[in-house]
This record gives sequence, structure tokens and C-alpha cells, in this order.
Amino acid sequence: MSNPHQNAIKQLEKVSKLLRDSYQDKDRFDDAIKKLKTPQNFFETELEVKMDNGTVRKFTAFRSQHDNARGPYKGGIRFHQDVSAEEVKALSTWMTWKCAVTGIPYGGGKGGIIVNPKELSENELQKLSRAYAKFLSDKIGPWVDIPAPDVNTNGQIMAWMVDELEKSVSLERRASENISATFTGKPIMLGGSQGRDEATGLGGVFILEKLAEKLGHDRKRDVTIAIQGFGNVGYWFAYHADQLGYKVVAVSGSKGGIYVEDGLDPAKTLECKNREGGLDNCLCVDGECHINNGKKITNEELLELDVDILVPSALENVINKDNAHKIKAKAIIEMANGPITPEADEILAENKVLVIPDVLANAGGVTVSYFEWAQNLQGYYWDRDEVVAKLKPLMDSAFEAMWEMLKKHKTTGRMATYMNAVKSVIDAMMLRGRV
Ligand code: NAD
Repeated sequence: MSNPHQNAIKQLEKVSKLLRDSYQDKDRFDDAIKKLKTPQNFFETELEVKMDNGTVRKFTAFRSQHDNARGPYKGGIRFHQDVSAEEVKALSTWMTWKCAVTGIPYGGGKGGIIVNPKELSENELQKLSRAYAKFLSDKIGPWVDIPAPDVNTNGQIMAWMVDELEKSVSLERRASENISATFTGKPIMLGGSQGRDEATGLGGVFILEKLAEKLGHDRKRDVTIAIQGFGNVGYWFAYHADQLGYKVVAVSGSKGGIYVEDGLDPAKTLECKNREGGLDNCLCVDGECHINNGKKITNEELLELDVDILVPSALENVINKDNAHKIKAKAIIEMANGPITPEADEILAENKVLVIPDVLANAGGVTVSYFEWAQNLQGYYWDRDEVVAKLKPLMDSAFEAMWEMLKKHKTTGRMATYMNAVKSVIDAMMLRGRV
């Protein structure tokens, strides 16, 4: 199996070859690249939790703080049985780039615990979350490192962690810092931001608007879109794309998907999916058609549809060397993290399929997390429209910066995005005199 941290390092080396020429002082540049290959801090521990049956279980937990030249470390906490030190290091590196892409003032971090949370009771899950927050209490803070939810963690888990952190820190720290701003992705009642739920999907649709404009589509209804995944990200992408007039012709969930040639209504489709327990039950059942003129498709068929834009919004590595040459879409907006393998990326580039990479396409989520932090620190809260109005210009300018780099260097969307991000981190390191 490939080592994700080695992949992140290889990616950085590839970008550095393209960027090196633009730096006069090659030694300082090389020094910066060398530093960025290793997280600045990496913590590992064994958390002990007293289980409901009275036994004590140990869980391995990590936090990686990759780079803070642009601001405090920022990145989610993952609860999964496959979490590893190498994965957490890689994810923290990618967070450094993602925060640089939209220009929010953060570096990159990531945390994880090796656990299958489905095997724990709610009581055990709460104890584990609290043990992790306690372990991190002297390593995180609103101006140091700001965690958030990731795979299998959510607002409830952030709420337990905030509570534990507040209990763990000194009165002096509590009086001088707004401790709740240490975590984002909190429930609204505990300082979460309006608009956070839809932020990632909506941010992706701002990218879609820019892309459609550059590709010369002037009639939105002529632009066909297929979306793999109909969870938080996939649904909100579908909803906002449809609202703006684009034609969403296919969506899928874990059990398969539906294709509707004339375009589907995402809100009604979600309602049907929730009512019927799956998308595959949302066609004609017993003479009653829930979604007209649709047909069932598999997840593989969805990826290979002849559409203008394909939007993987579910899992990693779904476009790989086995199916990349079958992709007929003209462009791919990566809303999931890492849906395209490096081998597939090369095949798609040869076939002139334009890929907008995850660190740009799904950056709306972390950007609204930044808004949550900013609102917590000032103790003044914005309504949903204000959040959306502040998100759009950041996504738009990140896209324009990528496009300019892509044209200038005749490179891929991924390379262009990484070049901008890495350059901004290296410039910050140089300004600080770290290299
Ligand atoms: P989610 O759990 O809400 O939704 C995941 C969707 O994927 C569900 O519809 C599920 O049915 C579907 N799915 C599962 N297995 C599938 C399969 N084999 N084939 C097709 N579909 C399948 O998760 P989410 O929050 O929407 O996240 C989706 C992706 O976006 C992940 O890669 C995540 O890391 C990334 N992401 C999410 C956010 C965010 O704010 N939620 C931010 C950045 C990136």
C-alpha cells in the first residue's frame, strides 16, 4: 500500500521543480522545501478509557502540526480504525496547502485516533473525546492549533472537547483566551457558524460558476452534471447548482444512483431518499413515479457518464488507473478528498480532462470554519447571507489565481493550485526569516 506521507512529499517535490526558477535565492528555497517535508510537531499517545463493562481500553491517538508560517495550525480530527501516523502527517500537510489556497490565515494540522467509533457506546465515545482534548490541552488554542470535525467526528464531539478543554486549562488562560474558538464545527448553540452545513457544497458551486464561465458555457441549462455521493457535500452541491440553473442529471449513494436526462430536482430527490431509505427506491415503484423519466445506474456507470462536469463527492480513490480512461466528462470538480489516484491523474491529463483539485474545490468548508473562529473571537455573530457573501469572493479569487497559473505554466489545475499554495507558504517562511 502506498504511504500517504511519502505521496505528499513526492507531490511537494514535483511542485518545487516548477517553482524553483522563480526564486533568486535557491538555497533558501531548497531549505524551505526540506522543512515542509516534515511536520513541525508530531504528538502520539495512548489514551486510556474505562469502558462500560469496567475494563480499561487503550487507543492510539495522534496530532500533527505541519506548518504555522501563515498562522495557527488548522485541521480536523478523524476517528477511524485505519488512522495511522503517516496518514495524519499527510493530511496535515494537505491542510497547509488548503488554507493557503483561499488565503485564510492558518497553517496545517490534523489529528486522529485509531478507533472504530461504531463499536463504542455514546458514553465511551464521550470519554474518548474528552481524553483526547485533555491530552491536547497544552498543545492547542485559538492562536496555536484549531481542530475541527473530520471523518466520523461531528459537532457533538467538538462540544465535548470544548467542555473538557475549558475544564483542563488554567483560570488565567480562560480569562485571557476565548477557549471555545479553539474548535470549529461546533453546534450553533455553542458558537458554530450559520451556513457551515452547506459551505463546502456551496463553495464548490462558486468554483463551478467560474469554471463554466472559462469554458465558455453561456447557457447554464446546457451544462450537465453528475455527482457521486449524495451526503452533505454532494447534496448541497446539487442543490445550489440546480438553483443557479445547471442541469444535475445524476446522483448516487452507497447503494447506487439515478440518472434523469432532463435534470433532477435535488431537494425532492433528498426528500424521497430519506422517505424511501435509498435513491434506488426513488424511481417508479408500484406504478407511482417519485422521480419522472429516471433510470437506475451503478456508481461505476455514474463516473463514466457523458456529461460536462463530473463531481466525485464521496470517497477516496474512486477514479483510478482501471477507469480513468473511461471518463467522458470534460472537467472534474473534486469535492471529496483525494477521489483521483496519482496514476489516474496522469491519464486524465493526457486525455485533456480538466481537474479542479480538492484543496481548491472543497475549501469552502475550512473557510467557513475560519469565519466561525473569527465570530467566536469577536463575540459577534453573522447571519447566513453574510457568511455566504464573505465566502464567494475568497473562492472566486482562489479560482482566478489557479487559472492564471494554469495558463502561464500550461500545467494542470492541480499543479497550478499547489504552486500558488506552496509559494504563499514559502514566502511567509522567508518573511519570518525561518529559512
Ligand atoms: P457524508 O457522509 O455526508 O456523505 C458521503 C456520501 O457518500 C453519502 O451519500 C454516501 O451514501 C456516499 N457513499 C458512500 N459510499 C459510497 C460509494 N461506494 N459510492 C458512492 N457513494 C458512496 O460525507 P460528506 O461530509 O459529504 O463528505 C464527502 C467527502 O467530502 C469526503 O471525502 C470528505 O472528506 C470531503 N469533504 C467534506 C467536507 C465537509 O464539510 N463535509 C469538507 C471537505 C471535504
